[in-house]
Amino acid sequence: MILNFGAGPSMLPNCVLEQLQTALYDWEGSGYSILSQPFRNAKVEDIINEASHLMLELCGLSALNYDVVFMQGGARMQFAMLPLNYHDDTLSSLYYNAGYWPNVALAEALRVSNKVATTTLLENVVALSYQKKYLHITTNNTIEGTQLSEDIAALCPLVADMSSDILAVNRDFAKYSLFYACAQKQLGAAGNTVVVIAKKFEPTPLNNTPEMLLYTSFIKSNSLYTTPNLLSVFTTLLLLRWAKAQGGIAVLSKNTQHKAAMLYEFLDEQPHFRMIAHPSERSVCNITFKAIDDNVHQKVLALCTKYSIKGIEGHRSSGGFRVSNYNAITTEMIRTLIDVMSKIK
Ligand code: PMP
Repeated sequence: MILNFGAGPSMLPNCVLEQLQTALYDWEGSGYSILSQPFRNAKVEDIINEASHLMLELCGLSALNYDVVFMQGGARMQFAMLPLNYHDDTLSSLYYNAGYWPNVALAEALRVSNKVATTTLLENVVALSYQKKYLHITTNNTIEGTQLSEDIAALCPLVADMSSDILAVNRDFAKYSLFYACAQKQLGAAGNTVVVIAKKFEPTPLNNTPEMLLYTSFIKSNSLYTTPNLLSVFTTLLLLRWAKAQGGIAVLSKNTQHKAAMLYEFLDEQPHFRMIAHPSERSVCNITFKAIDDNVHQKVLALCTKYSIKGIEGHRSSGGFRVSNYNAITTEMIRTLIDVMSKIK
């Protein structure tokens, strides 16, 4: 079996894959594939409703205060939708820009509005958030392997890209006015992005924003504004059911920390590697490091090939290695990786 530590699309639990296999041929006893189901169908709404319900339940939120929508277009589409939906002629938005993906989010906001402030300094974020339309943060920098372990006490509505650490970190989700995560890392398969929006964070869209890009189009239609990617939303539902059965975020976050600690402890003791992220910022979801020279780098790659380990090469922009320690990665998989890396002499 291949062990895939890729940053996303990532591994899914086997039980989820098995259920998908069945659904591809005969979905829930309908006699035909989930791919061919008409989307104006009560059972399709059931999937959306259960997935929304579970998402809120896992995050400790209530449907009285939050809407959940499933959209296509990846996390990148949220980068564009956010400034379009929360436009303001006077108030600026604020982007905490401490990595590659937050920088892409910032660039998109700047295409839509010239009222965008930014900082790369965490210690300045709270003060700067005063009288802002919203503050956008990225809770986990997938590429750099850094993470915000504490929820920021923003002075304006807090918005977060949680693509790589949703369900893996115990957060106070009630502090967030809007958060989103593409599904292909912690929430299933590419093709849908989950967006959770506080009802009181009402959109104020830029004039003439296409309806397809309005949050309200998706909220009002219960995510059925356009034909949904049902296979991907169903995969997310299976993943959410699995997450609940594991014990929810409390258990998943403990497991994530434990697995990450095992790997960091091992790597810190190795003379062959140097860690990329500062210890105070280290991510428990993406663990980044470099070999001390190309010889070691090549040895790691050769061992990975020999032992069927995939996906640990760093992002093309940063090089080195990155182990993605998402929810579907088990302690045994991390132990196997450590055993293999121990063979480097
Ligand atoms: N945000 C973060 C934190 C990411 O890691 C990624 C990479 N998948 C993205 C946004 C972009 O996601 P997508 O490919 O779904 O647009």
